[in-house]
Amino acid sequence: MLFSNALIPTLKEIPADAEIVSHQLMLRAGMIRKLATGIYSYLPLAQRVLQKVKTIIREEMNRIGGQEVTLPAVQPSEIWEESGRWELYGKELLRFTDRHNRNFCLGPTHEEVITDLVRREVKSYRELPLTLYQIQTKFRDEIRPRFGIMRAREFVMKDAYSFDRDEAGAEESYRKMYQAYTRIFERCGLEFRAVEADTGSIGGSFSHEFMVLADSGEDVIVYCSSCGYGANLEKAEIKPPDAPSRNETLKKLERVSTPGKKTIEEVTGFLGVPPHDLIKTLIFETDQGPVAGLVRGDHEINEVKLKNLLNCEYLALADDGTVEKVTGSPRGFAGPVGLRIPIYADNSLRGCLNMVTGGNEQDTHCKNVNTPRDYTVIRFADIRTALEDDPCVRCGNQLRMRRGIEVGHIFKLGIKYSKSLHATYLDRDGKENFIVMGCYGIGVGRTVAAAIEQHHDKDGIVFPHTLAPYHVLILPIEINDDDLRNVAFRIYNQLGAEGVEVLLDDRDERPGIKFKDADLLGIPLRITVGRRTLAQGKVEVKYRTSGTVELVDCEKIGTHIKNHFSNC
Ligand SMILES: [Zn+2]
Repeated sequence: MLFSNALIPTLKEIPADAEIVSHQLMLRAGMIRKLATGIYSYLPLAQRVLQKVKTIIREEMNRIGGQEVTLPAVQPSEIWEESGRWELYGKELLRFTDRHNRNFCLGPTHEEVITDLVRREVKSYRELPLTLYQIQTKFRDEIRPRFGIMRAREFVMKDAYSFDRDEAGAEESYRKMYQAYTRIFERCGLEFRAVEADTGSIGGSFSHEFMVLADSGEDVIVYCSSCGYGANLEKAEIKPPDAPSRNETLKKLERVSTPGKKTIEEVTGFLGVPPHDLIKTLIFETDQGPVAGLVRGDHEINEVKLKNLLNCEYLALADDGTVEKVTGSPRGFAGPVGLRIPIYADNSLRGCLNMVTGGNEQDTHCKNVNTPRDYTVIRFADIRTALEDDPCVRCGNQLRMRRGIEVGHIFKLGIKYSKSLHATYLDRDGKENFIVMGCYGIGVGRTVAAAIEQHHDKDGIVFPHTLAPYHVLILPIEINDDDLRNVAFRIYNQLGAEGVEVLLDDRDERPGIKFKDADLLGIPLRITVGRRTLAQGKVEVKYRTSGTVELVDCEKIGTHIKNHFSNC
């Protein structure tokens, strides 16, 4: 491709509304342009990179027996009502009506559509297992789209679905997909971790997220470098501590006046006690009625863990009215003593003596609170958010944390959708069984953005070889100089004929601008054709990743480049 013919509208300035590096660089490199909030056009350079990711994904999906399909983006409400998600999905589901007043949505995911297809077409155990996938545009009406295509409303996703006869088969499909995902992200040149994740609104029984490690990542991953355990922050389990063998005697329960002291800092400061001697009491509303969750003052409660512990459909922090009704006092003074709702406490509170809690009365706290003497805990469990240095649930070593970008997510769904949509098959004995499902997603655009977050420097993008929009950029310093122009085109034609993807910067621009753009676009190899080197029959080859420069004979450049790529 000749640069003069290409639509690569590079920008010199960093766009003001782009907060993270990948967003800035994709705008500056002329890869994307915004049409509306969270809705982007992909320009030719981005399209080429997306295509590379899609090719890698297709190859790996096909390798494990996946078959590609294309499902409709517009989906009727009926199948969503059958699965129960028409109500549950909330405002992220963009709903609309057609001219006949029928309800539709723009697909944010395709479990309903694919399950509907399979229940109609698959009848017998002979037709299972089956894995179908597609690469397609999805729409989720995010409340706060941001970071360019990293968290967009419209985005390109690969979604795959597996259908098996039984649990064992579903686990095998899941394992294959896990391995395929590992190969995909390795081939994309990404440093990533697969971590255990909560199954959230998709539902199901087991799940992993594939996280690209990057400081700008929105997610926190927790991992153990001793045993390899890894999970996202909401899921990360903590080994229960040994009960402390404190020899303190139980002191007499005392009520103390704490006028206007509500926060942990205010109360601990006022009473002169450390935060870990205080119990935080949080009141939640659930579909099973209000409950209280207790954690130590220096810990944070983990709502996902509490929700899973209660096995409830709905859980959220109670509003002021409910807090007042349940505790008899305004927010900020809740405590377990005298509370008449179920109380769940974090493992770290087990055996803690003479604690400070709210007094369930305005401007009042309790000192020397002890269980079971003063209140009853229904269950001690792991309900707090992990911290750096917490003990690993598997091996007890210290947990570490890093930030990550979620690029892939795999779920073992079980029969959640096949049950609600009645997708069954007949087994060998003619008996009807539910099909056991899994679902597996990759954010294709987000993978590109994550690659840029991980691979860039102060001058621009440093594309991994496998994702680069072109392999080689040829840069003649002066395009109007016939000698330079001829050599540049000769190399361009030669490399092109050998299947190397080449961009030739034939623009009549100052060399400074061309060099800056070359660094910005992140193409792995730059061949500079200049007067001085050409006088010695050589051109300059610069490697974008290492920054190394070497002079190569014009005559040998084809072989040189070919050798380089055969080692990649
Ligand atoms: Zn461990």
